[in-house]
Amino acid sequence: MNQSELFDRSKQLVPGGVHSPVRSFKGLHTTPRFMAKAKGAKIWDVDGKDYIDFCMSFGPLILGHQDPDVRNALEAQLQKGWSYGACEPYSLELAEFLLERLPHVEQIRFVNSGTEAVMTAVRLARGASGRKKIVKFNGCYHGHLDALLIKAGSGLAGTAEASSGGVPESIASDTLILELGDLEGVREVFKRYPEEIALIAVEPLPANNGLLPQTQEFLQGLRDIATEYGAFLLFDEVISGFRMAFGGMAQLTGIVPDMVCYGKIIGGGLPVGAVAASKKIMENLAPVGSVYQAGTLSANPLAMVGGLESLKKLTPSAYETLEKNTKNIVSLFEKWFREYDGGRFSHLKMISRGSLFWIHPGELPSNASQISPQLARDFKVLFEILLNKGIYLAPNAYEVGFVSLAHKEKTQEELKERLWS
Ligand SMILES: *Cc1c(COP(=O)(O)O)cnc(C)c1O
Repeated sequence: MNQSELFDRSKQLVPGGVHSPVRSFKGLHTTPRFMAKAKGAKIWDVDGKDYIDFCMSFGPLILGHQDPDVRNALEAQLQKGWSYGACEPYSLELAEFLLERLPHVEQIRFVNSGTEAVMTAVRLARGASGRKKIVKFNGCYHGHLDALLIKAGSGLAGTAEASSGGVPESIASDTLILELGDLEGVREVFKRYPEEIALIAVEPLPANNGLLPQTQEFLQGLRDIATEYGAFLLFDEVISGFRMAFGGMAQLTGIVPDMVCYGKIIGGGLPVGAVAASKKIMENLAPVGSVYQAGTLSANPLAMVGGLESLKKLTPSAYETLEKNTKNIVSLFEKWFREYDGGRFSHLKMISRGSLFWIHPGELPSNASQISPQLARDFKVLFEILLNKGIYLAPNAYEVGFVSLAHKEKTQEELKERLWS
């Protein structure tokens, strides 16, 4: 079967042919590429065509595909079993490794995804505070839990409505939504509900709806307001954690959140998420406290071993290499934007932070409402051209690009050849 036959067959069996909507290439010129194998910075489709991969499974694979040390660790664990549903030393080892290196948290609980981590943090914040409202920001993504599938409503500052079918109004109405950067708006909603807000949730480096870096003042302002009103501050570091620095944005900004969520890189490509906080906050979770949370496959030994082996390789020099790789790749793209087809893409800009990049037409936005309406149209054309050249971006204009340690000189050379081919 060719690619489009595979997609047709999938659509018979699976809604939209995919198990996560962004994989469907919706809004693009082409149907999804079915991928059959991957190694290093490359991914191969079922027809054997290879692509330089800048999606990297949407972030987890910071070492590249099939890192040999991670693979060896996984193979060794496979000899011992891959799920016990019992206490085991592997998650203890990962917890110890992490908590020694993340001074802003004291305890951690492993779950199976970023969504589960955020869902746990929300329940924990509500349980520990006895409050029910949550503040979130337009353009921040926190996974697909009901309480955060919320977009701006049309009423007062903060008013929200569900951004998905199936989310009851009774749940949406407990979430308040503001624009990134709008500290005044945050103050206003706290003045309106001084004793009802349990949690401020924020991606400290918003990277799910474009890359929208925030100022230190804004993040510090959130910290101060949360403290003043007795609400919790959650840094959702599912993308930024272990990517911007080992300790993520909490480390880079020096701002201490009350809770942190991790995902993606923490499992090295296997399904792992985590919520972490002080011992005092975390011990509200069952079996110590009254806030229930559980998981049949949580802390499964294979994922724990894969995560630990990946994280061990993220040394300070690894972060230097990642930034260097990214700078080189970004400057190749920027040069190509200027030169391609008589300057057809010369209005496109590339923003990067750490090993993330994003393409945007014209002036760079700092919140979701400033994103250019031209973006989707430009991306549709660009994505197709790059795909044909064997360069694979995440298949959506609002997703960021991910650079890994495998995107080294050889890959950069190849990128150059492919761009100008
Ligand atoms: C990816 C992501 C999530 C959701 O994680 P899943 O593992 O896809 O459930 C939550 N928050 C942020 C910031 C993310 O980038």
